[in-house]
Amino acid sequence: MTKECSSGGCGPRAPLTAEQEQILLGHGTEYPGSSPLNGEKRQGTYHCAACGTLLFRSTAKYESGSGWPSFWAAEPEGVATRRDTSHGMVRQEVHCAECGGHLGHVFPDGPPPTGLRYCMNGLALDFRPEVPGKAASSSSVEQGGWCA
Ligand SMILES: [Zn+2]
Repeated sequence: MTKECSSGGCGPRAPLTAEQEQILLGHGTEYPGSSPLNGEKRQGTYHCAACGTLLFRSTAKYESGSGWPSFWAAEPEGVATRRDTSHGMVRQEVHCAECGGHLGHVFPDGPPPTGLRYCMNGLALDFRPEVPGKAASSSSVEQGGWCA
């Protein structure tokens, strides 16, 4: 799988695969343990795979042991929830606030400080690793080094 940022920045990647559509548009659930994002430990941000909206940050990611990428906090602007009473359960469904794509569910059994567990489908997420040095624009620029 290749994924790269063009010179115009990181836009949404398109088109979605059939599996991604099944989750984002069809409220599907990926097979537990199937997402490579389960073991993702790098610093970075998680975006909606459909529209590119910022949803989660790596700083709120933790290992829940559920088999799905889990977070204890979401970006308030990027994520919205809705009561879901399907399958005989009452759950909080989590979706992208921008495009409405289904992401997963949130449960009240997460770690502090929020006590929440955002249980996400890795296929609905687009992980963008932090580029070292890119965020340090305000720090002192190295002096010299190459031709002036
Ligand atoms: Zn979206």
